[in-house]
Amino acid sequence: MDNDIRTLSNLHFGAVFFSLNGMPAPNSDNMNEIIKRLRRAYPDAHCALVHSNAFELLIATILSAQCTDERVNIVTADLFRKYRGPADYTAVAQDELEKDIHSTGFFRNKAKNIQAACTKIIDEFGGEVPATMDELLTLNGVARKTANVVLGNAFGIASGVVVDTHVSRLSQRLGLVETTTPEKIELELQAIVPKKHWVMFSHWLITHGRRICTARKPKCGECFLADVCPSYEIFMSDAD
Ligand code: SF4
Repeated sequence: MDNDIRTLSNLHFGAVFFSLNGMPAPNSDNMNEIIKRLRRAYPDAHCALVHSNAFELLIATILSAQCTDERVNIVTADLFRKYRGPADYTAVAQDELEKDIHSTGFFRNKAKNIQAACTKIIDEFGGEVPATMDELLTLNGVARKTANVVLGNAFGIASGVVVDTHVSRLSQRLGLVETTTPEKIELELQAIVPKKHWVMFSHWLITHGRRICTARKPKCGECFLADVCPSYEIFMSDAD
C-alpha cells in the first residue's frame, strides 16, 4: 500500500494500530517470530481430513464445505469403503450418493458436484486427480481453497495458502493482513509468509485457532503469541 494512504488509513490508539475497518493494522515484522513459535508449538500439525490418496482428499475437501472435519471423517470412514475411485461415484444414482453424504449438509449440491468432478477426472484426466491449480479449478465443486488443500497435502505442492475460517480469523487478529475476504487474505499472506511454509502455516494457524485463539473466547492469557499480537490488549481489556 502507498505509504501516504497507509498513514491516513491507520489510527493509533495506545500501543495498537487500527485500520479503518476496525482490525489491527498489518505488522509483518513479527512474521518470522510467529512462524518460529507456531512451528515449535505444533510440530505435528497436519491436515485433519482423513485420506489415503489425492482422490480421497479431494472428495473429503468437497464434503467439508460448511461442515466440520470431524463430521466429514465420520462420513468418509464408510464412504471410502464403498466408493474406491471416480468410477464408483459415477456408477450410482445421484440420490444414492446423496444419502451416503447426507449428514455433511448441502448434500444435493455436493453429490452433483462430486459426480460431475468424477466424470471429468475419468474423461479428461485419465482417472487421476490432476496436480495443477488450473486443472483442479476445472472440476465441479473445486474452488481455490479446495485446490490448495489437495495440492499442498496430497502432492506436496505449495500453490498457495489455505484460508479457512481459522486462518482468516487469526491472520486478522495477529495483524498480518488488512483485509477480510479469503481471496485477498491469501494474497496478503503469500506476500509475507515464506513459500516453504505456505502449507504448514495453515495447519499451524488452524491448530492454534482450535486450541487457543478460539472464535468466541480466545485464551489470550495463555497464548505464546501474546507479546507479538496486536489484539492481545483488546481482548484483555474486554475481559476486565
Ligand atoms: S493473543 Fe489472543 S488474539 Fe492474539 S493470537 Fe493469542 S489468543 Fe489470539
